[in-house]
Amino acid sequence: MLQKLTLVTLLSQAFFGFAMAADNTHPHDRNVEDLNSTTEPEMLGVHWAHGSSPGRAATTSSPLMTNHGGKIMPTAITQTIFWGPSWSNASFASDKITGLDSWYTGFSNSNYAKTVDEYTGTNGTVGAATTHLGHLIDTSTATGGGKTSAILAEVCKAVTKPDPSGNGYYAVYTDVKRGHASYCAWHSAGTCGGVAVQFAFFFNLDGDSGCDPADTSGLHSQGLSALASVTAHELSEARSDPATPGAWYDSSGAENGDKCAWTFGAPLVTFSNGVQWKLQGEWSNAAYTAGTGYPNSSGQKGCLSGL
Ligand SMILES: [Zn+2]
Repeated sequence: MLQKLTLVTLLSQAFFGFAMAADNTHPHDRNVEDLNSTTEPEMLGVHWAHGSSPGRAATTSSPLMTNHGGKIMPTAITQTIFWGPSWSNASFASDKITGLDSWYTGFSNSNYAKTVDEYTGTNGTVGAATTHLGHLIDTSTATGGGKTSAILAEVCKAVTKPDPSGNGYYAVYTDVKRGHASYCAWHSAGTCGGVAVQFAFFFNLDGDSGCDPADTSGLHSQGLSALASVTAHELSEARSDPATPGAWYDSSGAENGDKCAWTFGAPLVTFSNGVQWKLQGEWSNAAYTAGTGYPNSSGQKGCLSGL
């Protein structure tokens, strides 16, 4: 019943332009769904834009994430899908396609990937090694992120043979601007032809200050550096809490990326291929317990920067 009420609250936010986003309504990311369909895959780990996260009521409950009994991703076989006609425009694509290929390649075995290695599930432990299969480009008109089923359909269209292990992670980068949506990205799970897939949705974040980590390094375009930090958030969440039933999230429904969103423990993080990025940190129960993490926006020292 509580779940139901939370869902109704969130749906009313979704349908009224998140007008309630500044109050203390509980966010419970896990239940954001589309009212029009009961078959929509669950929208997990919504990455709220700066200042758009529904406020969290003061609570005395533990900030630790708990295991809800589901699977984790022992590894990830990643592939990016650049969806929308603008991706054929070289000035729009800029460094984003090559940069994100580099991001996913360098993520494997990086210290940043290891920020999630304490989490276990019914199918093992999250491991630092991932495999990147490169990118696909689909220049047909893209949708926004309002319907998980539309993004899943795009994944199933673009990826002809999803990884049979169920650890395929397909990240859909659209050329659609965020507009009035309060989130930058989300991740979800579904099936393509009976094969389980993990997938994620990303808006085009060019010039979008609400979803920008403010990377001043000059190493990447603003649009790429914004996608990079949001990409780190979604992939880390998918690895520790990939599907229904969920694995690791806290009493408010927040996953490891949510709990450290828009906080940075270091100016730049170096990946295993030597490429540097400005990335938000990821929540570690172990670091919080030991008091060795850097503080999140609530001052809880459980975030690991991945240095
Ligand atoms: Zn999230």
